[in-house]
Amino acid sequence: MGWLRDRRRQKILEHPFPAEWEQILAAGLSHWQHLDLDERSRLRCLTQVFVAEKSWEGCGGLHMTDEIRVTVAGQACLLLLGLENVEFTDVDSILVYPHAVKTPEGPHASYGSVVESGSLPILGQALSGGPVLLTWDAITKSARHPERGHNVVYHEFAHKLDMLTGTIDGTPPMATKEQLDLWIEVCTDEFERVQTGAGQGKRTFLDAYAGVNVGEFFAVATEYFFDLPREMRRERPELYGVLHDFYRQDPAARETRSAV
Ligand SMILES: [Zn+2]
Repeated sequence: MGWLRDRRRQKILEHPFPAEWEQILAAGLSHWQHLDLDERSRLRCLTQVFVAEKSWEGCGGLHMTDEIRVTVAGQACLLLLGLENVEFTDVDSILVYPHAVKTPEGPHASYGSVVESGSLPILGQALSGGPVLLTWDAITKSARHPERGHNVVYHEFAHKLDMLTGTIDGTPPMATKEQLDLWIEVCTDEFERVQTGAGQGKRTFLDAYAGVNVGEFFAVATEYFFDLPREMRRERPELYGVLHDFYRQDPAARETRSAV
């Protein structure tokens, strides 16, 4: 990881990873149990740097704690675990509310129900070039119930990866033209499948929220990829394949390995 050679970051990493933080990751990141020793060590480094470099703000009466910082950082950095030279560069600050909040912002990159008027409560929001807003009760719920395939941190930080290309079009930066072409082909198919299913009132593998627009599609698919990887690999293997190639991670294989 080239970015770790940065001198400022080396200073951050000179501090040993606190034992309490390790417990926070084990409790607050359901995927932690499936990571091997090398992956855990890399995630510790990413988490430590992320906690130190971002500005953290408790909102709506929430008192900011290490538990919140480390849980959010660990979940967000899981997305980066296999990616070289990809960072959440446009995220300076993370705002955490205790519960779902009402926001004056429009539907852009919001999570939860479709926000038409901006008056409905939301669980999270990623603003282009701005902060990520999260709600602590949604974060703890998803850590306890990965089987539901909902994770507000994966969701909002997937939006942030999408935004790295300058547009929110459900396509994060791809390594090659071939990878991009396959991504567009598979994701367009899968997106239309969700939209058609939702239009006919049918259940689809991905939550119907993935059919709101292509940006939401990628964010929702990311949640399922990390929380229900074996189910996704079985039900939507092509989608699993392009996400696997992009994230350079195989969470389904990890789950299978740690289940034996
Ligand atoms: Zn969203």
